[in-house]
Amino acid sequence: MIITDTHTHLYSDAFDDDRTEMMQRAIDANVKRFFIPAIDSTYTEAMLQLEKDFPKYVFLMMGLHPTSVKENYKEELKHVEDFLKNRKFCAIGEIGIDLYWDKSTLDIQIEAFKYQINLAKQYKLPIVIHCREAFDEIFEVLEHEKSDDLYGIFHCFTGDLEQAKQAISYNMKLGIGGVVTFKNGKIDQFINQIDLKHIVLETDSPYLAPKPFRGKRNESAYVTKVLEKLSELYNLSEEEIATITTENSKAIFGI
Ligand SMILES: [Zn+2]
Repeated sequence: MIITDTHTHLYSDAFDDDRTEMMQRAIDANVKRFFIPAIDSTYTEAMLQLEKDFPKYVFLMMGLHPTSVKENYKEELKHVEDFLKNRKFCAIGEIGIDLYWDKSTLDIQIEAFKYQINLAKQYKLPIVIHCREAFDEIFEVLEHEKSDDLYGIFHCFTGDLEQAKQAISYNMKLGIGGVVTFKNGKIDQFINQIDLKHIVLETDSPYLAPKPFRGKRNESAYVTKVLEKLSELYNLSEEEIATITTENSKAIFGI
């Protein structure tokens, strides 16, 4: 069985003291494919180093995270584009809109989001969407930009059933992580009404640790807790869920 963590920030300094051991724990738990979202240029070097250290397992994305869309966003977008020109990435991400941390940057967040969607179309890559308190705004952009060649993952999906269906209608898979194990996480109430072909697994390490590690540092090995929960909700073996969601991740990333 091979489990895929489609969203994990393994280059985070939260892992600086024990990165090799943490990676080994994941690999020992059958988590053998790690997809690494970008945030902004300050992390690029750490991402490249991670890829050098674990070349068989790690696949890098490139993109500008909505909470890093600030005064210098044009330079940051140029950084993204320069890297896309020079080497291969598996996706444009994470990109999107975040109205939890800062509402004042909404206009430039939308602009950066659209710009990067168009980079994805140009480079024929999937997008990985970050959405926090911004479903309406994100759906408005996707409604405008939707096309057969736009596809990807709605990362850390936390919406309701209607929003799940709407995300899927834009060729997006739903990234399901630790929130599905939370008592008040809500998605456990309806997720089994969504066909598994639309689901991928993720941790968002070092954030959003699943039960029983909630509130602690998250790591990719804990994606097994998400797998366990989905196995219970879908009434299928963990093996089956791992196989289907890994296949889904291959369909998205082409790796
Ligand atoms: Zn993330």
